[in-house]
Amino acid sequence: MEAILKTKDLQFLYPAVEEGEKATAALRGMDLTIERGSFVVILGHNGSGKSTLSKTFNAILLPSAGAVYVKGMDTADEGSLLDIRRSVGMVFQNPDNQIVSNVVEEDVAFAPENLGVPTEEIRRRVDGALAAVGMSEFAQHAPHLLSGGQKQRIAIAGVLAMEPDCIVLDEATAMLDPAGRREVLSTVHRLNREKGITAVLITHHMNEAEDADRVIVMDDGRVVMDGPPREIFTRVEELRGLGLTVPDTVDLLDRLRRDGLALPLDALSVDECADAVAAALG
Ligand code: ADP
Ligand code: MG
Repeated sequence: MEAILKTKDLQFLYPAVEEGEKATAALRGMDLTIERGSFVVILGHNGSGKSTLSKTFNAILLPSAGAVYVKGMDTADEGSLLDIRRSVGMVFQNPDNQIVSNVVEEDVAFAPENLGVPTEEIRRRVDGALAAVGMSEFAQHAPHLLSGGQKQRIAIAGVLAMEPDCIVLDEATAMLDPAGRREVLSTVHRLNREKGITAVLITHHMNEAEDADRVIVMDDGRVVMDGPPREIFTRVEELRGLGLTVPDTVDLLDRLRRDGLALPLDALSVDECADAVAAALG
């Protein structure tokens, strides 16, 4: 498998702002390899370093020590910057901060225009990107009139117009209602499945990690858990100790187990959980 993102003893320090203050060590030595085509979810309580890590993936931040490689390119190598920015697209939390134009299709065209992509090619990419996020019929609409979920799908389309290898979403569903969250999540899953785009999703919503290939849990600038969701979410006490919740299904199974029912902990989806409970009671 090809490593699309790789970090080697990655460390990051935010320098002290005021005299006498200490620098903040946000990343304390991370060794991660993310494979092309995978769907990875990153969890961790506030301040554990998730956003800092994600910003090192496309050279918004450069390591204080260690290194980050995108498709083998060192993010500290200025000559690769454009290629890196094109390869790893970022979607952030606040949809409104990511809108740069008054018309949806102009918004989606913004990045490729800045990259000097020829006009006909931009047309093709914008149409393709809007279709990929299911927003073609909104091409002429005003972005600020859309719902939160639709705005985030436009932000994703803007990233897709760069034809990236990897898309990184930093709490991109945090400001959305449940319907908006589902829209964005299913869009990212579809892009991953159908176009092979590597997805790195940072989230607070445990159920968004259910269908990931891999879950990485961070604490205090380090990786503390790393594995498939079914393995990670059975480690209930460990997750709680890290200040995290578990998916509702696991929480229910855990409580019923404490009440003496013989149940597995890895029935993650609602259907599996319901079947497991029915079987245990039956
Ligand atoms: P998360 O996204 O997991 O909440 P962050 O990467 O935002 O974590 O933060 C990691 C650590 O770095 C925290 O201690 C946070 O206070 C600190 N930090 C984040 N951004 C800055 C900044 N711009 N300046 C100084 N410290 C920061
Ligand atoms: Mg963050």
